[in-house]
Amino acid sequence: MSGPVAFLGRIDRALASEAPGKVAPTARSFVAKRAAAADAHPQFDELRDRARAIRMETLAELDTHLARFADAAEAVETKVHWAADAAEANRIIVGIALAAGARTAVKGKSMVTEEIELNEALEAADLEVTETDLGEFIAQLAGEKPSHIIAPILHKSRQDVGRVFTEELGEPYTDDPDELNAIAQRHLRQRFLTADVGITGVNLGVAENGTVALIENEGNGRFTTTAPPIHIAVMGMERIVPTMADAAVVLDVLARSATGQPLSVYTNFVHGPRWPGDPDGPDELHVVVVDNGRSATLGSATAEILGCIRCGACLNVCPVYQSIGGHAYDSVYQGPVGSVVSPGLWGLDPWSELSHASTLCGACREVCPIRIEIPDLLAEVRAQGVEAGMAPGWLAGGISRYEKVSADAKKWRRYEGLAAFGARFLSGSDGWLKRLPSVGKGWTDHRDLPAPKKKPFRDRWEERDGA
Ligand code: SF4
Repeated sequence: MSGPVAFLGRIDRALASEAPGKVAPTARSFVAKRAAAADAHPQFDELRDRARAIRMETLAELDTHLARFADAAEAVETKVHWAADAAEANRIIVGIALAAGARTAVKGKSMVTEEIELNEALEAADLEVTETDLGEFIAQLAGEKPSHIIAPILHKSRQDVGRVFTEELGEPYTDDPDELNAIAQRHLRQRFLTADVGITGVNLGVAENGTVALIENEGNGRFTTTAPPIHIAVMGMERIVPTMADAAVVLDVLARSATGQPLSVYTNFVHGPRWPGDPDGPDELHVVVVDNGRSATLGSATAEILGCIRCGACLNVCPVYQSIGGHAYDSVYQGPVGSVVSPGLWGLDPWSELSHASTLCGACREVCPIRIEIPDLLAEVRAQGVEAGMAPGWLAGGISRYEKVSADAKKWRRYEGLAAFGARFLSGSDGWLKRLPSVGKGWTDHRDLPAPKKKPFRDRWEERDGA
């Protein structure tokens, strides 16, 4: 997943592209919608407290809840499979499809299938797979990865989408949203009706009755779960809640935090395959429960991140995500949550570097519906990276020197004076540093830095006090 270009290089590339100009306005509009939805709900903060309690208590006894879920699901003819890693999950899913003689699959939006690179595995087995979520469909046509966990093509304008449809589908160019929707519908409808397998993710698995909850806004998820004869739902093992009442609480905070909606347009509860007398639904329902690093995260100092319900609010509000967009992270999980999830799932090397893309301003914690202490977890990942010897030499050396100097008042004053002296040659007449050499260049390439003052604040304060 991590490309040959290191994170700083990817950030430079992102900053030089058009992506930030497209990402920031949409991300900010999500922030405004979430704020309005929170204000409109008189007990939203209490609801968040309940959602957090549900998620944390479930994680504390995850094995028990998973076993209950599996028993209840199997009691209604759902087949439950356990996958230790991505390779095993793909083997199971491809195996189910091939055993049924399937040739084509339609997919609903699912981050865990992105994580395990399921499309690549299906295609390697000669299965034709079509993404049916509009954003995912466009990303698939464009040959790109999603850049946001709920809005896969946040980095694209409608003009970009018009060009993709012209180049990849041979449609006359349009950037009218209704016409673009109609084009996508025309191309997707036939695939729903002829697909052999429908594959979706899972927002929540309900332990008490083995139900799988899926939310969406387009209706493609409902088609995917009902039209093909086989439905395979792929679930990260942490996505369990104990009861339907708990699911209602979590779905309530999820929709409001994600898009500002009181509830998603479609909330699908899938409870076993088609029952006698049902007008539609699959003949077979499979749930593939994926570990792929989650057990290791559960036993670690960043276990709290498994409470995440993938609403995307922390991405939207993050000033770094707004500036660099999702592709710079080079992970399925971007932004603050991705910077904790990615090293947890795939290891510190190289993923701990993502945790440095944060000002630790705390905006992510403020909006998180589960009140996850994301800044603390980011700091924890940074510390783990440093302990593992992954900090660049200049940073480790610089911090150790800073530690010594800041603990010694005389040294501190001496260095303060030296910095102010050096700044005289580097700053402009307005007192700002605009071009620093060496590692300082990383800062001044994109913004200015106030030059250290000849007389530091402490001295001026003393003078004022003495006056
Ligand atoms: S960490 Fe919180 S805010 Fe971020 S995606 Fe997960 S639930 Fe949403």
